[in-house]
Order: sequence, then structure tokens, then C-alpha cells
Amino acid sequence: MLHSGDEAKILAGGQSLITLMKLRLASAKMLIDINNIADLTQIRKEDGAIVVGALVRHDQIANSSLIRETCPLISEAASVIADQQVRNRGTIGGSLAHADPTADLPTACTAAGAKVVTASVNGSRSIDSADFFRGYYNTALERDEIIQEIRIPVPPPRSGGSYLKMSKGHNDFAIVAVGSLLTFDNNQVCRAANVVLGGVAPTPVHAKNTEDFLIGRKLGDETMERASQKASDNLSPPSDLRASTEYRLEMAKLLTKRAIVNSATRALGSN
Ligand SMILES: Cc1cc2nc3c(=O)[nH]c(=O)nc-3n(C[C@H](O)[C@H](O)[C@H](O)COP(=O)(O)OP(=O)(O)OC[C@H]3O[C@@H](n4cnc5c(N)ncnc54)[C@H](O)[C@@H]3O)c2cc1C
Repeated sequence: MLHSGDEAKILAGGQSLITLMKLRLASAKMLIDINNIADLTQIRKEDGAIVVGALVRHDQIANSSLIRETCPLISEAASVIADQQVRNRGTIGGSLAHADPTADLPTACTAAGAKVVTASVNGSRSIDSADFFRGYYNTALERDEIIQEIRIPVPPPRSGGSYLKMSKGHNDFAIVAVGSLLTFDNNQVCRAANVVLGGVAPTPVHAKNTEDFLIGRKLGDETMERASQKASDNLSPPSDLRASTEYRLEMAKLLTKRAIVNSATRALGSN
């Protein structure tokens, strides 16, 4: 039971929290180390979902054959986080709770339609990723809740996904990232499309116009090009030392095109 309100913080991998505390950007009178809760370290398949415990490390996700075979966009996202040392310690629960808009797993989990399951003394809640992220470093987590696990739906047959990011250095935080998951029917018509952008807004955002354009169509070169041009509709990404607004808008379109092509190839190639 968490009694300490703002004075206590959960410590998972420590890869964000300890850095912030060293910089005096965060402080806590009490750290609650959850690393010994074995139940939070498991990856399992259950009721049509891959269930990933909050303490599962980025490296485990990148190398899990279960995740790679069922939802490769999640393992792709984990594999491009930082360096091996950070991937060995950082956890999926910590990454989602931290809610950095340039982080990889928030965007990938939103694209995969994952649910964040929380726990508190009052019970548990299941929150859609799309509703979990509220703003810069801000989530739907209540003060007395922890993330217990993430449930990633197993995509239907003829689905394919992809995660791509553009960053300044090798595996740095995203300037722009795209996670996509497409599902086709027997006639190769796109029936469901999730295309989610990271690094361009305070939270991961669905490229709604791209998704709407893809649904109901067969994906030839021209369709995929037109769909990706819509990825920057309604976006006002920040301009900072790493990239201008205009650059991010162009990259959003380019990466979306590549992610859609990868997803379609994976979905239809597996028939
Ligand atoms: C050098 C460096 C480079 C990095 N590069 C990238 C990158 O390219 N891409 C990327 O996505 N990330 C990157 N990261 C961040 C990394 O992925 C972190 O692991 C992640 O953001 C936080 O996970 P953690 O387990 O370390 O959490 P912690 O640092 O332990 O905690 C982070 C926050 O989440 C809270 N928290 C942790 N677990 C829970 C839980 N189960 N329930 C509720 N609250 C919880 C903590 O209280 C804290 O507020 C980088 C980090 C470093 C140090």
C-alpha cells in the first residue's frame, strides 16, 4: 500500500528516475524498489494477448521469440532503445509511466493497441494506451497506482506491423518515430490500420487521416504514397536543437511510408 503520496516514488530500472534525481529535477523522500516482485517479470500468452509484466526489461522484449513472432513492432521498438546497458535495466512499466513523448515503447504500445493494467489497494484497472498518455510526462496513473502489466492483443491473421525511428545518434531518443499495424482481408483489402507517431506531440498520436485513407483499399504504391502524405495532417511538432518543425513533418511522412510498406509486406507475405 502506498501511503506516502508525492513523497514516495516507484523505482524500477532507475534509468530515468535516477538520472532525474541526480540532476535535481526529481526528488523523493522514499523510493519503493519493486525489482524483487517476481510476478512482474514474466512474459506470457493469455486470452488472446501477450501479457508483459511491468518489470520486463527492454532487452527481454527485444529478444522474446513470443513477442517477435506475434507483434514484431514491439520488439523492434525495444531493440532501438538506447544502448545495451540501458536495455538491460530499463523496464516497460518504467518507460510507460515516465511517458517521455520521444520514447519508443509508448508509441509502439499505442500502435499495437495495448492496454495498461494498473494495480492499487482499490483493485485493478485496464486502460487503453490511447487514453493512458495525457501529456508531456503525464499519464492516467493515479498516485496510489502502479503499472502491473501491459496486455498486447495478438493481431488477427493477415496482420503486419513495423516500428521505425529517426534519431540523431545511434538509438538515441526519437526525433520522429512511427509504429504501424495493418490488417488485411482475404482479398488483400486493408480492414484495420493503426499508424501512430512519436516525437511530434506531447503524447503518441494516431495519424488519423492516414489510417482512414488506408482502410477499405488495396495497398499499391500510389495508395501508400498518398496515405503517408496525410501523416503530417493536423500535426504541429516542436522545433528544437535537434530538428525543426518542418523537418519533423517531412520525416513523419517518410517514416510512415516505410512503416506502411513494411507492415503490408509482412501481413501479405505471411499468407
Ligand atoms: C542514456 C539513456 C538513453 C536512453 N535512450 C532511450 C531511447 O532511445 N528510447 C527510449 O524509449 N528510452 C530511452 N531511455 C529511457 C529508458 O528507456 C528508461 O528505461 C525508461 O524511460 C524508464 O524505465 P525504468 O525502468 O528505468 O524506470 P525508472 O527510471 O525506475 O522510473 C521511471 C518513472 O516511472 C515510475 N515507474 C517505474 N515503474 C513503474 C511502475 N511499474 N508503475 C508505476 N510507476 C512506475 C517511476 O516512479 C519513475 O517516475 C534512455 C535512458 C538513458 C539513461
